[in-house]
Amino acid sequence: MVHYVPENLPTSIKHYIGGEFVDSISGKTFDVLDPVSNENYATAAAGQSEDIDRAVAAAKDAFDNGPWPRMLPRARARVLGRIADAVEAQDSRLAELETFDSGLPITQALGQAQRAAENFRFFADLIVAQADDAYKVPGRQVNYVNRKPKGVAGLITPWNTPFMLESWKLAPALASGCTVVLKPAEFTPLSASLWAGIFEEAGLPKGVFNLVNGIGEEAGDALVKHPDVPLISFTGESRTGQIIFGNCAANLKGMSMELGGKSPAVVFADADLDAAIDSTLFGVFSLNGERCTAGSRILVERSIYDEFCERYAARAKNIRVGDPHDPKTEVGALVHPEHYDKVMSYVEIGKTEGRLLAGGGRPEGLDTGNYVAPTVFADVKPDARIFQEEIFGPVVAITPFDSDEEALELANGVKYGLAAYVWTSDLTRAHTFVQSIDAGMVWLNSHNVRDLRTPFGGVKASGLGHEGGYRSIDFYTDQQAVHITL
Ligand code: NAD
Repeated sequence: MVHYVPENLPTSIKHYIGGEFVDSISGKTFDVLDPVSNENYATAAAGQSEDIDRAVAAAKDAFDNGPWPRMLPRARARVLGRIADAVEAQDSRLAELETFDSGLPITQALGQAQRAAENFRFFADLIVAQADDAYKVPGRQVNYVNRKPKGVAGLITPWNTPFMLESWKLAPALASGCTVVLKPAEFTPLSASLWAGIFEEAGLPKGVFNLVNGIGEEAGDALVKHPDVPLISFTGESRTGQIIFGNCAANLKGMSMELGGKSPAVVFADADLDAAIDSTLFGVFSLNGERCTAGSRILVERSIYDEFCERYAARAKNIRVGDPHDPKTEVGALVHPEHYDKVMSYVEIGKTEGRLLAGGGRPEGLDTGNYVAPTVFADVKPDARIFQEEIFGPVVAITPFDSDEEALELANGVKYGLAAYVWTSDLTRAHTFVQSIDAGMVWLNSHNVRDLRTPFGGVKASGLGHEGGYRSIDFYTDQQAVHITL
């Protein structure tokens, strides 16, 4: 198979601190693989605590002494608008880099820049339109809210759609007037370096954005524990979130946690079955199944169960797995051999826990690279590990149910609560059912389209706090109450 390698790839990936690309002070690096050849194509600077100290010092200086936190919202919004334009202009370059680094199919990587740009435009609009509370007690008092950026924000991000998820934190943090230190995921450090050029071109003052690459337990840990970083916005696994939560406690930091999921898609017999099948296939096999909101458990009403399973498996078998850069590819290569091993171990566990309907291993003809055939297990019991645990790959568990009550019990019977999808043509049932479902976000007869003003976040082990709209601005700002006696 021909493996496409983008032109002008860097062979070394550096930090970006105080407006300059720099190596680690210690000179330490780590290897970066591409998921098709699994060969090192670059080394990245492995940030240690002294690199984090340097980045936090630059961010703190920009916050304490620079213009960014003190600019009028309109002036900051102009810079954010220029950032959005510069991001959008990078779409095809960004897509080829993301595809090369993460194994995401190129057709799905294209458009990520537009989504990232939209995040900047949205928060630019929001800060200009921002209104804060003011109250008058006639003849006695005036009270108003003085909103202030919190300081240096620590942003820690995962490897799935890395650039887009970075924008999801960078845009509101910068819009709010914070300065930032970003620690991107070590599996996919390639695209984060694009931010430096984009921000320079847009006129973001030096030191406002800082980037430190590195391993989570080293660079990430140092950022979390740094006393001059009052807030941490984290997206990643629930287990990592627990560790970070504990480490933030010493300094009582503000935390936003977007964590793992095992989201149910509930398909009632009265659903539009064609649409439900299309959507539930998309829900777990798009983005290689490496999607936090993946509908990785499909609960199907018994009377349509056999038909659903048969049609679903036939479609899953036809999904085209292949080189991520091939525009015909629908499922590419999983991000890293370690993650591939994890997903494959669940495929083997699944063979003892459910009835294999499709996939079940490496696709034929793809002998190297992190390829997993779209895998479907039916008759999966709720105590099965593949029902309970996040796999984060192209693997789905299907389970039948007989009543609305049983569907709800199955839907809620896991530790996670990120997203849920409900398919029914009965409006009353739909609204009643979603009231009781343990999920931060529910899609009714639809999937993954959302208005940027709505809250994004999970309940139970899927997260803490919300991002989205003014909730993100609330996270990155303090609201000081000022009381005046008349
Ligand atoms: P991860 O938890 O392994 O790593 C995420 C980030 O945390 C990386 O940058 C990593 O280097 C860093 N990190 C690891 N240990 C750390 C520590 N002790 N201190 C500080 N930082 C540390 O997650 P991942 O494997 O990169 O991403 C996949 C996970 O992310 C899945 O569980 C997925 O569901 C979740 N996710 C959630 C959302 C959401 O919005 N809820 C979105 C995308 C991904």
